[in-house]
Amino acid sequence: MRLSPAVRLSEYFMPTLRETPSEAEIVSHRLMLRAGMIRQESAGIYSWLPMGYRVLRKIEQVVRDEMDRIGCHEVLMPTIQSAELWRKSGRYDDYGKEMLRITDRHDRDMLFGPTNEEMITDIFAEHAKSYKDVPRMLYHIQWKFRDEVRPRFGVMRGREFLMKDAYSFDLTPEDGRISYNKQFVAYLRLYARMGLQAIPMAADTGPIGGDMSHEFIILAETGESQVWCNSDLLELDLLNADIDHRDPAQMSDVIGKVTSYYAATDEQHDEAKYQAEVPEDKRLSARGIEVGHIFFFGTKYSEPMNAKLQTKDGESVPVQMGSYGVGVSRLAGAIIEACHDDNGIVWPEAVAPFKVGLINLRVGDAACDAACEDLFAKLQAAGVDVMYDDRDERAGVKFADMDLIGLPWQIVVGPKGVAAGVVELKSRKTGVKEELSPEAALARLA
Ligand code: ATP
Ligand code: MG
Ligand code: MG
Ligand code: MG
Repeated sequence: MRLSPAVRLSEYFMPTLRETPSEAEIVSHRLMLRAGMIRQESAGIYSWLPMGYRVLRKIEQVVRDEMDRIGCHEVLMPTIQSAELWRKSGRYDDYGKEMLRITDRHDRDMLFGPTNEEMITDIFAEHAKSYKDVPRMLYHIQWKFRDEVRPRFGVMRGREFLMKDAYSFDLTPEDGRISYNKQFVAYLRLYARMGLQAIPMAADTGPIGGDMSHEFIILAETGESQVWCNSDLLELDLLNADIDHRDPAQMSDVIGKVTSYYAATDEQHDEAKYQAEVPEDKRLSARGIEVGHIFFFGTKYSEPMNAKLQTKDGESVPVQMGSYGVGVSRLAGAIIEACHDDNGIVWPEAVAPFKVGLINLRVGDAACDAACEDLFAKLQAAGVDVMYDDRDERAGVKFADMDLIGLPWQIVVGPKGVAAGVVELKSRKTGVKEELSPEAALARLA
């Protein structure tokens, strides 16, 4: 899963566009097309070009780290599933037109998975038989297909999209809540690491009831969800690195605090409660992007699918389950919605395709070339992801492209500077530029 640590732009495939593509309605879609990150293949189905694919994999990596940390282990289930499984849970008919149904050469009903509750329940049930086999958590990061009525906004509402979906297995509902809380804590951390403020909001639990479902929402005008919350939530520091996922009491303390503020999406919103609980100056009603959704559903699948565990007393009970989704490909767009300016994308470091863009202002000039090659090699040696703009292009084009693709740091190497022993270091986010020696620039970035 290692990403190449360094590329030369003269060899890279990064088809940037000067003009704004007219088909794109929102800024993230426009910028993803302009930065040469994606290409539409058909409605809601995209190819990920090198730059876009790097971002996707960086997002995956943050998700993986946080899943690993809470003891949730990675598997990989197929994209194509048998209809048989879905008939067992009863969802084959319920799912309706969003499910892409396929028939193989033997006339067997297959489908392109929109999610994996049935399959993971089946996998788990075949191998786990007793209370000793729980608690367990498994996840995968896999392409899903949902035949959305209205695919739009680029990768934000695709038909084929990448999701992390995790599943928890426990003996009792109480243990199930602990697993749920572990995922909740992991979600707080993973979004914060991506530079996002994702607010957990009470979400619809459907026929199961209870309070064990939360959507993680990023506030944005272009969001497709309507949400209501207490604006104090925005002031909370949601990245609490010290939450110990092995300490159930501490987890429920923190989660209790976060969820004590009013925060709800459409289906859950209760206007009277909102008015009563939230002081007028703290009422925030806004649009939001759903970037994750966690759900405890108890025995909804284990019961019909006969996934049972033996208790200590020899009793046979259906396993308690939850599922936990992150919209990995949607996040690529959502992060841009939250992090851009007039000149382009401003990537948070954790998901930036490269940390540094090295700009050679005079390719072919021996001194500039040598200074750049030296920095390029040293950045790599220091483990810093770097893109070297070694193209024979005008400075204006190089600056515009580098701002557009939004790498956090730029090092600009020009003939005058090189003669004086300095390069320019620019922060994409603040725009602040500094002249310093190449060694000092390296020290700052390594
Ligand atoms: P939405 O309300 O946006 O249709 P959902 O509630 O149907 O999403 P879930 O079943 O909760 O989606 O899936 C988990 C996550 O997968 C969502 O929180 C979202 O981030 C992502 N996701 C769902 N549908 C899409 C899609 N069509 N394109 C991209 N990401 C999606
Ligand atoms: Mg949906
Ligand atoms: Mg939803
Ligand atoms: Mg959802």
